Amino acid sequence: MTINNSKDKEQNRIEKAREIIKNSKKIVVFTGAGISTESGIPDFRSPGGLWTRFNPEIYANYDIFLQDPSKYWEMERVISKMIQSAKPNPAHKSIVTLEKTGTLLAIITQNIDFLHQRAGSSVPIYELHGTTLHGTCKQCHTIYSHDELLKKMETEEIPHCSNCSALIKPDVILFNEEMPVDAITGASTVVEICDCFIVIGSSLSVLPANLFPSRAKHFGAKLIIVNLEPTFLDLEADVCIHGKAGELLPKLINNNERS
Ligand code: NAD
Ligand code: ZN
Repeated sequence: MTINNSKDKEQNRIEKAREIIKNSKKIVVFTGAGISTESGIPDFRSPGGLWTRFNPEIYANYDIFLQDPSKYWEMERVISKMIQSAKPNPAHKSIVTLEKTGTLLAIITQNIDFLHQRAGSSVPIYELHGTTLHGTCKQCHTIYSHDELLKKMETEEIPHCSNCSALIKPDVILFNEEMPVDAITGASTVVEICDCFIVIGSSLSVLPANLFPSRAKHFGAKLIIVNLEPTFLDLEADVCIHGKAGELLPKLINNNERS
């Protein structure tokens, strides 16, 4: 296949996705770590990703956190700094542009970096894996902001509550931890009523989040997948485009105003 041929095919896919987005009235966007790599936060599974540095079975495991939180905080130190200096990229901003057309119902995200909020998204954002925006004392439930936690990390190896000295845990969901009921319920509802479901930057390898795209399709939505690499759902998608979210999303959404 020549380069021109594959460029033409990509252009056709972009046109098809633009058309679907333009003709949809209830869109749900589903994002994973891949939407934030261009903001400087590595994903987990790509070569050089966070998993190669921090084995999740040790560093992101709830049972281990309760016994010995030092590993978790070692990883959190690295991730928090990346999140603090990250800025929303054109993909996050395009989702805000889409919201302005009045057709975006909600964002479902697996990310913990609150970049959708920082980009200015104001539709409901269902954070399936929680957030590093704040942390909570395990005993008295005092809430600590991201900035307060960063400050605590400067002087405490394992941050403890200033009120009661108990352990603080950032409000991210670790392996073996219960999923946030409100986010799951909210996401499940919009998945069943949307007419277009757009996956952006997810390997679709984490359960139960990766069940949402097929479920949306089952309930009648068109499925668009934008990801650097193939996913197991590519063949089910109405349009699947492999490439960088920060380059593709503006092409799919910007200047897609309705007549
Ligand atoms: P993942 O690491 O499993 O997959 C990321 C996918 O994004 C990969 O398939 C990769 O090919 C693709 N990708 C990478 N850069 C891209 C780009 N510029 N444009 C388009 N696609 C790109 O991530 P996941 O599916 O979200 O699941 C992993 C878990 O990782 C989630 O639970 C999430 O909580 C957590 N995580 C979050 C962050 C974050 O908040 N930014 C970062 C790392 C991991
Ligand atoms: Zn406390």
